[in-house]
Amino acid sequence: MTHKIRLLYGDRILCTGCMVWRGYTEVKERMPKTYQVVLFQGCKSAHIPRNLMRIFLVFCLLLFTSISKAERNLIVVTLDGLRWQEVFRGADENLIAHQDFVKKPEALKQAFWHQEHKQRRQRLMPFFWQTIVEQGTVIGNRDIGSKMSVANPWYFSYPGYSEIFTGVVDESIDSNRKIPNPQISFLEWLNKQDKFEGKLAAFGSWDVFPYIFNVERSKLYVNAGFDSAGGYPLSAEVKLLNELQKEIPSPWHSVRLDAFTHRFAKDYLLTVKPKVMAIAYGETDDFAHDGAYDQYLHAAKRTDQFIADLWRTIQTTPGYKNNTNVLIVTDHGRGSYPEDWQHHASKRSLAGYMKGLSHFPEGIIGSEHIWFAAIGPDIPARGVVKTKVEVKQSQVAATAMKLLGYQPQTFNPDIAPAIAELFNQEN
Ligand SMILES: [Zn+2]
Repeated sequence: MTHKIRLLYGDRILCTGCMVWRGYTEVKERMPKTYQVVLFQGCKSAHIPRNLMRIFLVFCLLLFTSISKAERNLIVVTLDGLRWQEVFRGADENLIAHQDFVKKPEALKQAFWHQEHKQRRQRLMPFFWQTIVEQGTVIGNRDIGSKMSVANPWYFSYPGYSEIFTGVVDESIDSNRKIPNPQISFLEWLNKQDKFEGKLAAFGSWDVFPYIFNVERSKLYVNAGFDSAGGYPLSAEVKLLNELQKEIPSPWHSVRLDAFTHRFAKDYLLTVKPKVMAIAYGETDDFAHDGAYDQYLHAAKRTDQFIADLWRTIQTTPGYKNNTNVLIVTDHGRGSYPEDWQHHASKRSLAGYMKGLSHFPEGIIGSEHIWFAAIGPDIPARGVVKTKVEVKQSQVAATAMKLLGYQPQTFNPDIAPAIAELFNQEN
């Protein structure tokens, strides 16, 4: 009797001779030695496959799919306070030549203006539009009914980043002060899993990230603010970056220039090879607070190019290539008009941390509106999707966990659900 062995489901093989399921490791142990006759332990007779080459290919496929599922990498990229309006409409016609916010309107128009918004947005974020929208899934274009908001009641950074990385809203996180986060991020949870030990890292331009990730408790590797690179073998290039970071002044006391964050993160990726990383760019928010719309646009484009560089690096590096999902999200939106575009705050936050903005008695309307993008081997190429129900920022954590092969509830039973638009066919 000739038995066939077929790949039927996941990592299990069904021997159709005796109708017994086998694990691939069982096959793996026996294939190299006895590939002419495959004898499964417990089977009464030797199984003589009709087509050995076919079985060998099935075995290779099994091993490959099994490895790739278990070993997916993930990078969460955040852009601080970049409005959905710029992402989906390009430069704002009410701001691009505004004398209060732009030093050289003609030069800025030369760089970013086009009558058609579809051309205009490509000029601002070419990688986003030419690659991410083409190959991935994007949410947040309110002009076509694609909606996403923060779920926290404050509309500023610490509560936003906490929501992104913990998957829950903790209303007690109501300031940007350097207070260790009482909530646990999915990075911290993964850090407790054996296979992720030393395989997680976060890089950020803002010096509050060590508190958002609660490094004292989480023991995560976080390089943020004006931290130097260290704790692993440093290349000559990174040693130079460490020196330059001390020598080149940042415009801000608590945020470094994103070029440092990007290059430290990229070098760490190539040298230490983490499985999961967060990279948090900050310039867009700080230039907006400064009222520098020209610098805000240039920062948006630079960040787009950083993400392009990151994606190129991923797709040319063994272990990461075709094996790394990238999620991109922002911590909050901003105002919609020349009067309020610089700011972001909820009405409720005016009574507390944001009381400096109380001349906007309703808070900054619309600053809860955010956007999201994803690209990678498990992300469908759906482009900008309309949402049936508004997506929340708190759903990013469960999305990340699911892409890493975990049930999000095992991390936190109260976690908001994963973003259905990435996983459900009907959407
Ligand atoms: Zn801000």
